[in-house]
Amino acid sequence: MNGLNGTPVTDDFANGGVSFWYRQIGVPRRRAALPGSRDYDVAIVGGGYTGMWTAYYLKKAQPDLRIAILEKEFAGFGASGRNGGWLSAEFAGSRRRHAAARGRQAMIDLQHAMFAAVDEVIEVTRAEGIDADIHKGGLLHVATNPAQNRRLHAELADLRTWGFAEEDMRLLTREEREERIRTAGTLSAAYSPHCARIQPAKLAVGLARAVTDLGVDVFEGTTVTEIRPRDAGAVGEAGRAAAVTDQGTVTAEYVIRATEGFTASIRGQRRQWLPMNSSMIVTEPLGEEVWERIGLKDYELLGDEAHAYCYAQRTADGRIAIGGRGVPYRFGSRTDVRGATQPQTVAALYKIMTTLLPATAGARIQHSWCGVLGVPRDWCSTVHLDHATGLGWAGGYVGSGVTTTNLAGRTLRDLVLRRDTELTRLPWVGRQVRQWEPEPLRWMGVQAIYALFRAADRHENAQMGRTSAYARVANLISGR
Ligand SMILES: Cc1cc2nc3c(=O)[nH]c(=O)nc-3n(C[C@H](O)[C@H](O)[C@H](O)COP(=O)(O)OP(=O)(O)OC[C@H]3O[C@@H](n4cnc5c(N)ncnc54)[C@H](O)[C@@H]3O)c2cc1C
Repeated sequence: MNGLNGTPVTDDFANGGVSFWYRQIGVPRRRAALPGSRDYDVAIVGGGYTGMWTAYYLKKAQPDLRIAILEKEFAGFGASGRNGGWLSAEFAGSRRRHAAARGRQAMIDLQHAMFAAVDEVIEVTRAEGIDADIHKGGLLHVATNPAQNRRLHAELADLRTWGFAEEDMRLLTREEREERIRTAGTLSAAYSPHCARIQPAKLAVGLARAVTDLGVDVFEGTTVTEIRPRDAGAVGEAGRAAAVTDQGTVTAEYVIRATEGFTASIRGQRRQWLPMNSSMIVTEPLGEEVWERIGLKDYELLGDEAHAYCYAQRTADGRIAIGGRGVPYRFGSRTDVRGATQPQTVAALYKIMTTLLPATAGARIQHSWCGVLGVPRDWCSTVHLDHATGLGWAGGYVGSGVTTTNLAGRTLRDLVLRRDTELTRLPWVGRQVRQWEPEPLRWMGVQAIYALFRAADRHENAQMGRTSAYARVANLISGR
C-alpha cells in the first residue's frame, strides 16, 4: 500500500488526468475538429451538459435546424464528466433574490421546475438508452454539530414558506435516520426524494452519442477564442453572430456560450463567472460489512451542513466518491492543470470522509481529481438569449448544475424558437449580473471567504450552538 500525505491509497492510485468516472468507462475517442469555416443555424460553444442538452432539445423540436457544438477537448471533458453525480433539485442562488426580481410565485415555479427536471433527465436517458447508473434514492443532509443542526432546522422551516411540502424535504426521526445513514455524531438529518445518483461521464458520453445520432455536428479539439454579436443592420456574414475558433470561424443565427467554469478564457469574458475549483476522491470498492455499518442502502446522496460542505455518493460498484473545495480559486481566473488535485486536498477529503463515516477508516483511495465550476458575482445561475445580437448563454450553476443544465437546455430551446412558455418566464431567465472585481481583489476576496468558512467550521465543531460570526462575514463578502 502506498501513502499520500498519510492517506492510504491503492497501488494503482492516480491523481487527475481524467476523473475516475472516465477511468471506469474509458476516455472516448476524439471526434474530428472543425474542418474550416462553416455556417450553421445555431453554434454552441462547449460540449458539456448545457451545450448537449440545448442541442438535444433544439434538434428534437426542429429536426431541420443545423446545429454545431464546438468543444475544446472532448464532449464531457469539463465539470460534466467530473462531478459528484448528484442529479438533484437544488438550485444555485438566493430564493429571495429571484423572488425580489420576479415575485414569490416565480421562485416557487422555478423550484417545481427543478423537481420535474430530475425526472425529465431520468426519462430522457431511459428513452435514449443511456445507462448512467441512475438510481433515484433521494438526498440526505446531515448536521453533525449544534450550529449545523440549528441551520438545518431553520432551512427546513424556510423551505416550507417556498412551496416545499413535507414530502419534498423533511426531518427524519431518529429511527428513520439510523435506518438510512450511520454517520458519526449526527444530530439531525433531512431527506428529500428529489435526487438521483448518476455516473456523470456515462451521462456525458451517452448525451454526446444521442445528439450526434440526431444529426448535431460535434467538433472536438476546437477552441473558441472569441464570440461576436451580429451587426443587426448588416447583410451577409456581418449580419450573423460568430464563434471564432483556432480551426476557422463559425457564423450562425445564434451562438450559445456553454463554457461554465472555463468562460474566463474567452475574449472579453474574464470577469464574468469566477472559475471555482472542486475536488473529489474515490475509494476502492468497500466490503458489504462496511456498507452494513454505513447504510445508504437506497444509494441516497449524502451531504453535510458545513460551510465548506462535502458531497458524497455510493457508486454502483460500492465505493464512496466524496468531494469538497480544495484550493478554490487560482489567481487571474486560471483553471487547474489537467484535473490533478493537491495532496493536502486528498488528505483533507479523506479526513472528512473518515470523520463523517468512521466505517471507512482504512479504506484506500484509488483516484483523486478536480474540476472547475462557474460562479457569478451574485451566486445565482442565469440563462439568457438576446435576439438582437444573436448571443445566448446559460450557466453560473455554482455547484448545482447536473440537473439545472437540463432546465437550461429546454429553456434555451424555447428562447431560440421564440416560444413564450412557462420555462421562459422563470425568474432566472434574462437576469443581468454584475462582473467580478478585477485582480488582485478577486483573488483576495475568494481567499478570505474560504479562510473564514474554514474558521467557522472549526468554531462550530467546537460545539458552538449558533452559526459562527466568521461565516456571516464570509457570506457578506461573497455577496451571496
Ligand atoms: C468536482 C465537481 C463536482 C460537482 N458535483 C456536482 C454534483 O454532484 N451535482 C451538481 O448538480 N453539480 C455538480 N457540479 C457542477 C456541475 O458538474 C456543473 O454545473 C455542470 O456539469 C456544468 O455543465 P456545463 O456544460 O455548463 O459545463 P462543463 O461541463 O464544464 O462544460 C464546458 C465545456 O466547455 C469546453 N470549453 C471550455 N472552453 C472552451 C473554449 N474556449 N472553446 C470550446 N470549448 C470550450 C470545456 O472543455 C467543457 O467541455 C460539480 C462540479 C465539479 C467540478
